[in-house]
Amino acid sequence: MPIVKINGVEIEVPAGTNMIDAAAKAGFDIPHYCYHPHLSIAGNCRMCTCEIEAGGRGLEIACNMQARDGLAIRTDSPQVKAVRRNVMEFLLKNHPLDCPICDQSGECRLQDYYMEHGQYESRLADPKVGKHKRMDIGDHLVLDAERCIACSRCVRFGDEVTGTGELRLFNRTDHTEIGIFPGERISHAYQGNLADICPVGAITSKDFRFEKRVWYLDETDSVCTGCATGCNIRVCHQQGQVFRYMPRRNDAVNKSWMCDHGRLGWQDIASLRRVLRARIDGKQAELSEGIRAAAAALRGVDASSVAFVLGTRATNEANWALWKVARANLPQAGVYWCQGNDPGAWSQVDDLLMDADKNPNRAGARALADHDAAIGDGTDLAHAVREGKVRMLVVLHDDVLGRLEDAAEGVAVLHLGSQRNTTADKARIVLPATHPTEQDGTFTNRAGRVQRIRRALPAAGDALPDWQLVELLGAALGKGPGARDAATAFKLLAGEVKAFAGMTYKDLGGGGLPLRQPEPLPSPPPAQPAAP
Ligand code: SF4
Ligand code: SF4
Repeated sequence: MPIVKINGVEIEVPAGTNMIDAAAKAGFDIPHYCYHPHLSIAGNCRMCTCEIEAGGRGLEIACNMQARDGLAIRTDSPQVKAVRRNVMEFLLKNHPLDCPICDQSGECRLQDYYMEHGQYESRLADPKVGKHKRMDIGDHLVLDAERCIACSRCVRFGDEVTGTGELRLFNRTDHTEIGIFPGERISHAYQGNLADICPVGAITSKDFRFEKRVWYLDETDSVCTGCATGCNIRVCHQQGQVFRYMPRRNDAVNKSWMCDHGRLGWQDIASLRRVLRARIDGKQAELSEGIRAAAAALRGVDASSVAFVLGTRATNEANWALWKVARANLPQAGVYWCQGNDPGAWSQVDDLLMDADKNPNRAGARALADHDAAIGDGTDLAHAVREGKVRMLVVLHDDVLGRLEDAAEGVAVLHLGSQRNTTADKARIVLPATHPTEQDGTFTNRAGRVQRIRRALPAAGDALPDWQLVELLGAALGKGPGARDAATAFKLLAGEVKAFAGMTYKDLGGGGLPLRQPEPLPSPPPAQPAAP
């Protein structure tokens, strides 16, 4: 790997690393507008210009400079600072300077870099060049061409990521203007990323603009639960209210992107479909009453007629806890997991991120089923129900009745979940679980990557984390799995289920870890030499 020197600090980086990323590794932030780690190099903003001390000469842009042995650069020499100041003056020459009413304020690179590298007095004597403002260019986007600095990130996103190519830079010199062809609109499912990557306030999100100044927002790292891809996100919230989801970089999962469906997933948190209180036979009840009633109902039936259904929308911790509760308290009961989507699940799918499987934790439930061969799948459950072997279903989140339809007529249901669905609506007893933004836990994405969700909000209503509801149910039945928090539940799971062997929340960090490979089968004994 090449060794380079940045401001006198030596660092070894993988071959092919550009000097913006190399500098970041060495702890130096090189300002830039047009460079984006997941787009091609355009090299048009010139803001990342650095001075070469050795291994070349003069000034070069860092985004297009690859690390090579012997290369030494300075990111803060007087010459570099002068170039940045001049670039800032050039970019701001025709800019409307409408920061007080611009929704990018607080996360605008023009603002930030002006304070760090600009700070000049305007020398402009002529009127500024006017451009189109407030253009409605897509269902989720507004474009203000006067604020654009022609970095071409949005153009490259359309050309290289979605392949839709709607945005173009038209005209020349200071009349260069970002726009779309007349009569066209941006209609793909990844529009929000354009607002994310625009480094200034030219492209803003209709769903977020003017809702909240960004400096008031807290951010919590989590994972989108809209489908099995498990895109990494930041939950942006204030005082218990979410204002937006933003993609969080994870090169092994979603790079820097997320789809618009997932981006708006936060609207479920406060939706009318939330389950906030326990219900027994259609009547609201205290949570403790609900748990007692659930335990009594389970004790009152023949254990062999009970089916516990692990949730493909439940956390790994909750599925493990439910499996433990079933095995410890009702060993004759069946345990199942269901592979399919819930009825009415959104249906978009593509080769970029959106998966046909809309369950955030199918792979996690599957890993548990692989661990215990006695765990049946959805087909086994459907057979058992149709044959009349199941008199009581204990369901974690999933809409099992929506899939089984009339086959489960007369089967009593105990539902633990955060959202209403056919199963929750028909259940005898409902226990309210928290939304993924209200609890800690893990999901395993379609590629088998175990990733953390983190609590960003207080629990709504009487809801408790799904694993904790199961823990309380187990305790009421006589034996809970013994986890006092989500981290302990995960540790216990990892100590028992090989696919998660030895993992801890700390190991998972921000980007998650792949499930452990199943242990290889023992080699067959060597063949005996044939008898002479
Ligand atoms: S609209 Fe934004 S992303 Fe597109 S070229 Fe202009 S500044 Fe860059
Ligand atoms: S692709 Fe799936 S996981 Fe990613 S943002 Fe969209 S819904 Fe969420």
